[in-house]
Amino acid sequence: MNNLIKALTCGGRVRVYITNTTDVVNEAIRLHDLWPSAASVLGKTMTVALMMGAMLKGEEALTIKIDGNGPIGNVVVDSDSKGNVRGYVDHPHVHFSKKASLDDVTTLGYNGYIDVIKDLKLKDLYSSTIPLKTGDLAKDFTYYFASSEQTPSIVALGSTMSEDNTCKVSGGIIIQLMPGALEEDIVFLESRYNLLNNFSNLLLEHSNLEDILNLVLDGKYEILETKEVRFYCDCSKDKFYSGIASLGVTEIEDIIKTDKQAEVICHYCNSQYLFKEDELKQLVKGLKKWKH
Ligand code: ZN
Repeated sequence: MNNLIKALTCGGRVRVYITNTTDVVNEAIRLHDLWPSAASVLGKTMTVALMMGAMLKGEEALTIKIDGNGPIGNVVVDSDSKGNVRGYVDHPHVHFSKKASLDDVTTLGYNGYIDVIKDLKLKDLYSSTIPLKTGDLAKDFTYYFASSEQTPSIVALGSTMSEDNTCKVSGGIIIQLMPGALEEDIVFLESRYNLLNNFSNLLLEHSNLEDILNLVLDGKYEILETKEVRFYCDCSKDKFYSGIASLGVTEIEDIIKTDKQAEVICHYCNSQYLFKEDELKQLVKGLKKWKH
């Protein structure tokens, strides 16, 4: 079971999100047959998305899309305020390593964009795009928070894969200055910054998130919330019914004529849904009735 902790430090003037996502990443590896480099990049994106999800409330949700023009193709991740995350990459069979560690930058590429789309349950979606600066996701999201959300932040992400192609550890931390932060808070955080250089090692050495918070924040923090996080896809046959319906009568009749059935696969979790001929005919009948 993986957790996410939301905490305050520096007298409430600094906000902290920390999560371990090892099980989440292992579930993504199982569903998508990810190779280690692809698992690392998707895992880090899911880790950031879960922490950004924890900044939302109620039914709000967000999507992160990253296209770095690298071999992995697009990385797409959805998350919400309830600790759910799901995601996929275009090309799961990607693996690059450099000096015996995973090479995220080569895997993702660094010539492209990060899109963050938030559904704040208002009339329009809120969307924001920044150019990918480095291909190092912790650095690029630090830039995202500064430029798109005007929130100075420290972002650290870590992941380590085992030789049997499972994830050994994965997780991350985001530390954010609130509007009332003081100079002394910045000095304090700068003095702790080196501890975050290798977040994978912190995760390997401490199985408990509170131990990491203790170390990084020198014991000075107050926990606001602890919750579970999980890989969860809410797709269903009903949802894909409306997808097929939106193709329109002519297109569906074409499918009935040529394929006799339609098979739909969910990008996020690889679930397959089969729509048989009679189900498609029923759908056409319903659409025609609705039209008149
Ligand atoms: Zn799904």
